[in-house]
Amino acid sequence: MSATLEVRGLEVAYGTVPALRDVSFTVDEGEIVGLIGPNGAGKSTTLHAITGLVPATTGDVSLEGAPLRGKPPEKIASAGIALVPEGRRLFAELTVEENLRLGLAARRKQGDEEALAEVFELFPALVDARRRSAGVLSGGQQQQLAIARALVSSPSVLLLDEPSLGLAPTVVDLVFSTLQQIRERGIAVLLVEQRAQRTVALADRTHVLANGELRLTLTPDDAADTDRMVAAYLS
Ligand code: ATP
Repeated sequence: MSATLEVRGLEVAYGTVPALRDVSFTVDEGEIVGLIGPNGAGKSTTLHAITGLVPATTGDVSLEGAPLRGKPPEKIASAGIALVPEGRRLFAELTVEENLRLGLAARRKQGDEEALAEVFELFPALVDARRRSAGVLSGGQQQQLAIARALVSSPSVLLLDEPSLGLAPTVVDLVFSTLQQIRERGIAVLLVEQRAQRTVALADRTHVLANGELRLTLTPDDAADTDRMVAAYLS
């Protein structure tokens, strides 16, 4: 059976500068796969190449065996891959509900109201905030809204670019426990994060990216192994 998301031999260059070299990994239904590494390692580039926002020079990206490389971002989104971008990119002037309805535009199935009900169940804090402008929400609520907006499209793969960035520790806990619930719904999750230890502990496996190459793969047992975590960043 084909993996839900398969990335094989992916290479990206910005002009003549290589940003990704021969990157390969898979994410299956109900799995969280982490991607960590220092600034500039190529984590965001990996997500942008999967979603068609930057072109790959070579390699393949496929969803349940169907090739995606070279397709435009809107086709990749409607095939079932949703991105929660770094910095959330919400429409600050629009209400929570209006932001969510924009996410529904990419929905592949019937039942918009059910989709909204499902995300409100996952993020109860958004119910009360439904008619407030996204711009006045706390950072944690904005991040929940950004994740909810991606989920209403009913994706089979959810990509997240540093969802815990700038959040207080208790809110980070909330984001990580939400990811666990999203995994339980059978979605394939690819999580780019700076919080390496938290990510390694949560994810089924975590790849370490450095200078555009996958150097090492860590499993939850490694999260408590300080030497191995340090080695991951020195590799
Ligand atoms: P960060 O944690 O800082 O977001 P990252 O691991 O996500 O880092 P990328 O943003 O993917 O890394 O960047 C990988 C490399 O590609 C870096 O050297 C970066 O400077 C370069 N790069 C990224 N975007 C562009 C662009 N649009 N044009 C040129 N170079 C770019």
